Formats: sequence, structure tokens, C-alpha cells
Amino acid sequence: MAEVLLQVKNLKKYFPIHSGLLNKVENNVKAVDDISFDILKGETLGLVGESGCGKSTTGRMIVNLLDPTEGEIIFNNENIAKANKKRQKELRKEIQIIFQDPYASLNPRMTIGDIIAEPMRVNDMAKGQELEKKVKELLEYVGLASYHRNRYPHEFSGGQRQRVGIARALALKPKLIVCDEPVSALDVSIQAQVLNLLDDLQKEFNLTYLFIAHGLNVVKHVSNRVGVMYLGKLVEIGADDSLYNNAKHPYTQALLSAIPIPDPTRRSERIILEGDVPSPINPPKGCRFHTRCSKCMKICKEVEPRMKELENGHQVACHLY
Ligand code: SF4
Repeated sequence: MAEVLLQVKNLKKYFPIHSGLLNKVENNVKAVDDISFDILKGETLGLVGESGCGKSTTGRMIVNLLDPTEGEIIFNNENIAKANKKRQKELRKEIQIIFQDPYASLNPRMTIGDIIAEPMRVNDMAKGQELEKKVKELLEYVGLASYHRNRYPHEFSGGQRQRVGIARALALKPKLIVCDEPVSALDVSIQAQVLNLLDDLQKEFNLTYLFIAHGLNVVKHVSNRVGVMYLGKLVEIGADDSLYNNAKHPYTQALLSAIPIPDPTRRSERIILEGDVPSPINPPKGCRFHTRCSKCMKICKEVEPRMKELENGHQVACHLY
């Protein structure tokens, strides 16, 4: 059994809504509302859901870009929030992020080499010739050439820029990388190249990934386990084969039905979800999915379903089970 690298326990992130002359807190956007999961050493955990479900907010709390409202993030048996400033700085090196938009996440005034060197320079990890050697190595690891070092981001394609973003994330030798929709802004033909690169680097450096994506089709080929979020809640989590072949939650089943089947003799029964995702300011009582669920029962409108383990780590939050 693999060791746990990261534990997320009862994590919440509420964004306050201020109004009135006194700027009082009137309400909260409950972006992430009490979720718990583990990430094992060396695995890729996929985290999927529609826009606004809280998956990217979760990733940003894990890399310390956002403070949780409540809950714990335990990395290598150490509670990140309780660590002192010095230790938090060290922990930040071990957890890195690759952003969704390679166009927006690179400073247009810096050369590619300086962008990759910056985290190592800031953290006093190398300087002078040693730093240049490391930049060159990182460029090679991500499939770029050393002559790219002095070019600027605008001289590169979207796929190449994402390679630079990956090299920058690798610079501090992290143990965990949060990949926040790393291929969704790229052309389909480039997506597979970047996914293969991430896979190769994971094996080379024994990395652990939290891979955030919009749909189940992207994480299918890269994840060992997959978690599904809906309106700030984790609704299902399990090993990828168990989840893809035997999805339990009606929301997961609907997401799966949207994946095209590459076989003209088989027709997929697409489940169309009615209505919009409710507001995270006033989420529905009981099961948050009940306003769109075709299997909704009386209890679903009243009682929030708890996560239950069905088999071999496959957990679901639904009153049908
Ligand atoms: Fe549907 Fe009820 Fe299950 Fe929610 S708890 S997903 S409403 S069946």
C-alpha cells in the first residue's frame, strides 16, 4: 500500500460578500464546502467537475495561494497552516502548480531562461554557471532546446509555453504538482504531447500530481484515481477503472455519458442534465445535486448525503447507496 503524501481534511473556502455602508459581510460564496481526500505518493489524482465547482480553489489552497476558511491540509504528516513562516517557505518549494493559461502565467518581459531560473534564484538554490546549467537541463527535460533560453514567451506556441510552465514548476524539485487544467487552453493535437510529457516527468522524478480538469475524458488517461466535485462538494471518488466502469453517483454518470465512444457501432446514451448549476451563495438544501437529478427522492431534498465507502476505496455521497 502506497504512503499518503497529502491529506485534505474537512476543507472549506468561503469568499465573503460585503455590502452596505458598513461593508458588512452579507453572505458567502461557498466555493469549497467541507471536502476530504488523500493523495498517495507517486499517484495522479484527477479532480473534475463543471466550472465553479471548487476544484481550482481546492488546488490553490493546497499550493498555499489561498488560505482555507476551515479544515486542514497535511503534507507529509505536517499541517501546512500550523507550520512557522520559515517552514511554510520550504513547504512551498515542495508543492508547485502548473496553471491553465500558459499565455497569462508567464511574464512577457522576461526571457524563458529567466522565467525558469527565477524560482531557483529567489530560493538561493543556485547562481552563476550552475544556475545556467540547471536552466539548460530543465529546458531539455521538457523538450525545448538550450537556444530557446534567450527568447520571450510571445515567440512560442501555446504548447511550448506550457512546457516552459512545466519547467518552472520542476525547478524547485517539488514532490507534488497541482496541474490546474494544464491542457484545456491548448489545441487538441498539442494536448496529447503535454500529457505524455507530464507522464514521462512523473516517472523520471517520482512526482505526485493533483490533476484538475473540466471533464472526465481528459483525466481518464492520466489518473490512477478520480474525484468528482459538484457545487463545492466531493460527490464520488475511486480508482479510475472502478469509477469509469461502475460510476455510482448520477452526476458522475452524466459526466461519463458526455464522453464520445470511438466506435461507430455503439451508441452512447447521453444523459442531459436539466437546468443550471445552482448558486454557491445559497446552495440547495439536502443533496446539492437534487435540483438536477432524475433519481431525486424525498430524502434528497432534506438530508445531505454523507460519503460512504462501497468497495476498495470507491466512495460516493448519494442516498441511493
Ligand atoms: Fe440524486 Fe438523491 Fe443521489 Fe442526490 S442523493 S444524487 S438527489 S439520488
